[in-house]
Amino acid sequence: MTDAASQPGSAVVTAAPPAGAGPTEADWTAAVAAVRQLPADARVLLICHVNPDGDALGSMLGFGLGLRRLGVRRLQATFPGPPEVPEPFRGLPGLDLLVPATEAYPDPELVVCFDAASESRLGELADRLTGAGAAVVLDHHASNTGFGDVNLVDPRAAATSVVAEELLARLDVPLDAGIAECLYVALTTDTGSFRFEATTPAVHQMAARLLATGIRPGDISRRVFDTRPFGAVRLFGEVLGRARLEPAAAGGHGLVWTYATQDDLARHDQRPYVLEALIDSVRCTAEADVSCVVKQTTTGEWAVSLRSKGAVDVSRVAVALGGGGHRFAAGFTGRGTVDEVVDGIRAELPGALLNPTNA
Ligand code: 5GP
Ligand code: MN
Repeated sequence: MTDAASQPGSAVVTAAPPAGAGPTEADWTAAVAAVRQLPADARVLLICHVNPDGDALGSMLGFGLGLRRLGVRRLQATFPGPPEVPEPFRGLPGLDLLVPATEAYPDPELVVCFDAASESRLGELADRLTGAGAAVVLDHHASNTGFGDVNLVDPRAAATSVVAEELLARLDVPLDAGIAECLYVALTTDTGSFRFEATTPAVHQMAARLLATGIRPGDISRRVFDTRPFGAVRLFGEVLGRARLEPAAAGGHGLVWTYATQDDLARHDQRPYVLEALIDSVRCTAEADVSCVVKQTTTGEWAVSLRSKGAVDVSRVAVALGGGGHRFAAGFTGRGTVDEVVDGIRAELPGALLNPTNA
């Protein structure tokens, strides 16, 4: 038993790293110690962000399977909101670790958070941070607020799963096919299947390590990215058909946007997760640097996805409107009518140009 891992307020605290720098050796050492020094019967709670994507679920479940290999027995994984796993992720190994947020340990010895830039992304589970003996944060958002006792935050990492793989390696947990599949889903989700700028040689080297366990990338990608119900195909047709192109927006770099309502989902008998892939069809638009999908979550409330090809820092737009994310992929919760939400975005675009003199 260690004091660090078992007594509230006594955890090893490392200073938040300077912006842009990855974790220090002291951070890694503290994270390894927080796991290694757990008592045998310790309860460990893994939490990822609300409305989890492939990186959130994949890094959390992959790390969870690693902890299980280390012999951690009292282990839960969870996320805020309804305990529904989106269909594309229902084949992930380690799903048996998941519990509804309502059943998550109230005061675990250790909490580990995945892919969440701030406590607000943990919703009703944010209180577990104060109830826990220690909180370790794994993330790759530059905007991470350093809300853990130990913060493994690497803004240069292509995905949170990159950080998770390194921590598993430092814990001497070998990759097996289950862990690898989870981390691979996370890595391919956040690199757009190795298409985005963050796809470094190190990313491909990690992919090679994961593939060497024998996982099947064709099957995994088809399940995660290339399968959706026919109703979703028809829904996409409708929603893409109402897309609007505004070439003059964003200082002439152009904005393309569309929206989907709850009524659209109901008409096609679809679950909200199917809308996550919409932004990838919208952002193809050659005439616009910035793309946007506004997805109704409830009356007067919208989950907004923003993407940029490089002229605009959309995280600035998202942060100005109460959200966050990365430079070229960000989001926020919008309120009011669709037009009001898009008006708000349009107004923030000029201030978010990365090179305003060239506009
Ligand atoms: P997506 O458009 O795929 O939902 O999200 C893109 C990026 O924006 C992700 O990195 C995610 O972390 C961030 N993001 C999306 N929605 C929100 C939000 O409501 N609040 C914050 N802080 N970040 C968000
Ligand atoms: Mn991520």
